[in-house]
Amino acid sequence: MSQPAPGTLSPLDGRPLDPVSATPVEDIAGLVATARQAHLAWSARSLDDRIAAVMAFAADALERHEEIVSILMAETGRSRLECELNEGYGILEYAKGARKVARKALKPDKVFLNPVAFAGKKAVIEHLPRGVVGIIAPWNYPLGNFFKSLFPALFAGNAVVLKPSEHTPRAGAWLAEVAADNLPEGLVTLVQGGGEAGRVLLDQVDAVVFTGSVGTGRRVAARAGERLIPCSVELGGKDAAIVLADCELERTVAGIVQWSMHNAGQNCAGIERVYVVDEIADEFVASLAAAVGRLRVETGSGESELGPLQNAMQLAIVEDHVADAREKGAAVLAGGERVGIGLGYAATVIDRCKPGMKVVDEETFGPIVAVVRVPDAEAALEQANASRYGLNGSVWTRNLTQGGALARRLEVGLANVNNHSFGGIMPEVPWTGVKETGHGIAASRYSYSTYTRPRTVLVDRNRDPDPFWMPTDANLRIFASALYDLTRGLYGAVFRLLPVLGKRVKAIRRSTRP
Ligand code: NAD
Repeated sequence: MSQPAPGTLSPLDGRPLDPVSATPVEDIAGLVATARQAHLAWSARSLDDRIAAVMAFAADALERHEEIVSILMAETGRSRLECELNEGYGILEYAKGARKVARKALKPDKVFLNPVAFAGKKAVIEHLPRGVVGIIAPWNYPLGNFFKSLFPALFAGNAVVLKPSEHTPRAGAWLAEVAADNLPEGLVTLVQGGGEAGRVLLDQVDAVVFTGSVGTGRRVAARAGERLIPCSVELGGKDAAIVLADCELERTVAGIVQWSMHNAGQNCAGIERVYVVDEIADEFVASLAAAVGRLRVETGSGESELGPLQNAMQLAIVEDHVADAREKGAAVLAGGERVGIGLGYAATVIDRCKPGMKVVDEETFGPIVAVVRVPDAEAALEQANASRYGLNGSVWTRNLTQGGALARRLEVGLANVNNHSFGGIMPEVPWTGVKETGHGIAASRYSYSTYTRPRTVLVDRNRDPDPFWMPTDANLRIFASALYDLTRGLYGAVFRLLPVLGKRVKAIRRSTRP
């Protein structure tokens, strides 16, 4: 039987969704050319002006949140409350934070120049937009994955082309529509389609922000490398939490439930592995299994903590990982089966997991938390770091000093103590990873290396030529040797340097006379 095309059916009840047409790939170059024109006018406006326009756009998006919440509910199958809390309500608040970051990141930097070596000279570093930034997004947070990059790219003076996932095309289309109602024509453009559309877009833009799987991320980074355009790649994750014996047990269990089951685990920074020390393992696992076992999967009633899996491919991965863990001797203590309707899968705890099981080694991206029992904190750290990925990591303990020290030894972009993942909603914090999670940086002033290029403007106020300019003569030799001594800390050399300065200037001026 042929599979339905991605993004055509509701993951909740399988009903057909409003059709979305792919952008003809032959139109993409023209769309980017129009965006580049829009960027020229946009970047000529003042930062205050751009900020005011983008904030009006974000305010309108919040005002119209009912529309996006309905779209998110249809595309992801999550409950209304889930869609409101996780994506629909956050857009204006995020824009406000991003605005503060933008003011700092885009402020020209004055450079302090050595007054002896660079007398009379001034340098300032300005931050210029790249041009057209392509934002290629995955399906897991169909709105949130865009606005992390959209706001800074626009504040910086770029035009943006949004390329939603073919699994969730409608949320990106809505964002582009609200942008079109509030911002200059062509500034935020939409390209719909799958991999081919993304590939063609990549060949046209001036910078790319990609969020998605490792395999695609490698292809995107390779092509960006060939084109010599800046590229930010935010890829997969397999986050670990380390649970120590002195943790605040109830909060720890609740925190791990939250960050392993948030968005039914379809979260690049979801806790997929828990390393718990033997001393409290029985108590911790019993409590985790009880809490996870109480979570409800959406059935259409709106009374749920988890939506279904977003697509059939993802469900197949989850079922495969759980079967693999069972076969290899792990114990499924909660969930471990499909529930409800559509692509629903129960929140699942698997105990006594070991390296070599897919739930420990590979990204699952589903509502599965794998528990590995370890003798002590060092063993936990070693196993947590034995991963291809490194996005978030966390240590759960009452001893904040020990927790901080251990968290700093995690090979991750965000090291947490007694929490996990929540840095993702902070516009001030770099969302980034190590290893196969990719080197991309979403959010914070550090992300501006993708959205801007530095341009240094050097101004020389001297009316005389610089004393080391051509032609050479005996005084230049004295000048050079005095400079050499000065750099070695022999400050008396200044008395050899000063007398030849005037002579050098005169000699150089003379050399220019016809
Ligand atoms: P994916 O790689 O299949 O697709 C991502 C996007 O790339 C889609 O829009 C797709 O159409 C496009 N694409 C596919 N081939 C392309 C090509 N050759 N050139 C350009 N674009 C192309 O990923 P997915 O399945 O949509 O997303 C799930 C993955 O995303 C998971 O691994 C998850 O961990 C990761 N993710 C990471 C982060 C992060 O911040 N690190 C955030 C969310 C999701």
